[in-house]
Amino acid sequence: MSTSLDSGWFTEVFDSQGSAFALKVTDKLHEVRSDYQHLEVYATETFGNLLVLDGCVMLTDRDNFLYHEMIAHPALFTHADPKRVVIIGGGDCGTLREVLRHPGVEKVTQIDIDEEVTRAAERFFPSLTESNDDPRAELAFTDGVRWVDEAEAESVDVLIIDSTDPVGPAEGLFTTDFLRRCHRILRPGGVMVQQSESPLYHSGSIIRELRRDMREAGFGSVATLPFPQPVYPSGWWSVTLAGKGCEVNDFRERDAREADLPLDYYTAEIHRGALALPPFMRRAFD
Ligand code: SAM
Repeated sequence: MSTSLDSGWFTEVFDSQGSAFALKVTDKLHEVRSDYQHLEVYATETFGNLLVLDGCVMLTDRDNFLYHEMIAHPALFTHADPKRVVIIGGGDCGTLREVLRHPGVEKVTQIDIDEEVTRAAERFFPSLTESNDDPRAELAFTDGVRWVDEAEAESVDVLIIDSTDPVGPAEGLFTTDFLRRCHRILRPGGVMVQQSESPLYHSGSIIRELRRDMREAGFGSVATLPFPQPVYPSGWWSVTLAGKGCEVNDFRERDAREADLPLDYYTAEIHRGALALPPFMRRAFD
C-alpha cells in the first residue's frame, strides 16, 4: 500500500490488488508522527475531513457512519443484554458514540494505543467525540493486547476490536493467541466483533483465517457481515462476530426494530440481510 498527494488528490494505492482510491483534497489540516503511527488530516472537496494513519484511509466525515454503525449495532443487538462493553482501538471515538446509544449499556471502556488519534478527532471530527463526556464512557491509552492480557476473566459482555489493519501496532490484534485471550475475558453469552477487511479481496484469506482462528480460540459460532464502505479498498468491507455461548447468526430482531435509534444505515432488516452471505463468500469460508 502506498499513498501520494499530488495534483490535489490524496491517493491510496492498494498494490496487492492493483487498485486505488483517491479523494480530491483542498487542504492539509494536521500532521503528527506519534510514537506509534503517522497521522494526517485533510480537508476534501466532497467527503468532509479525512483521517489517514500510516498512509491508510481511516475515515471521512461523509461515510464513516457505515463502518461505525456496523461495527457496533449488530454485536449489541446480538448479545442478550449488553451492559459492559470494551472497545480495543476506536481512537476516533465514532464506535464509542454508537455503543452509548444503547440505554442498557452501563459502562464502555475504550483502549487505544495512540492518544494522538483521539486528540485529532476532538479537533477535526467533533461529531465523533460528542459522547465522550457520557459518564458511562472511560478512555484509556495503552496497548490493547496488554490490556486484554491483564483484564479480569469473564468480565465483558461485548468486545469490539476496532483497529487499524493487521500491520504495525495492530498486528497483535489478529493472532489466534490474542483471540484466545479475548475469549477468556468475555462472560458466557459474550460477543466479540472485529473489523475483518474486504469481502471481495479477503474472503479466501484474512476473513477465512479469522473465522477459523476464532473457532480455534473457543468461539462456538461466527458470522461475517458485509457492508458498503466507499473509502476502503474495494469499496466493500466487513465485520466478523464471534459468540461465546451465544449464536451470532441470529439477533434480537424485534428489539433492534423497536429501539428506533437515530441511525443512517443499520436497521434490523439490514442486519438480517447482512447475515445472508452471497455464495462466493460461503464457498470461500467452507
Ligand atoms: N477502521 C476504523 C474506522 O474506519 O473508523 C479505524 C478505527 S481507529 C482509527 C483504529 C485505531 O486502532 C487507531 O486509533 C490505532 O491507534 C488503534 N490501534 C492500533 N493498534 C492498537 C493496539 N495494539 N492497541 C490499541 N489500539 C490500537
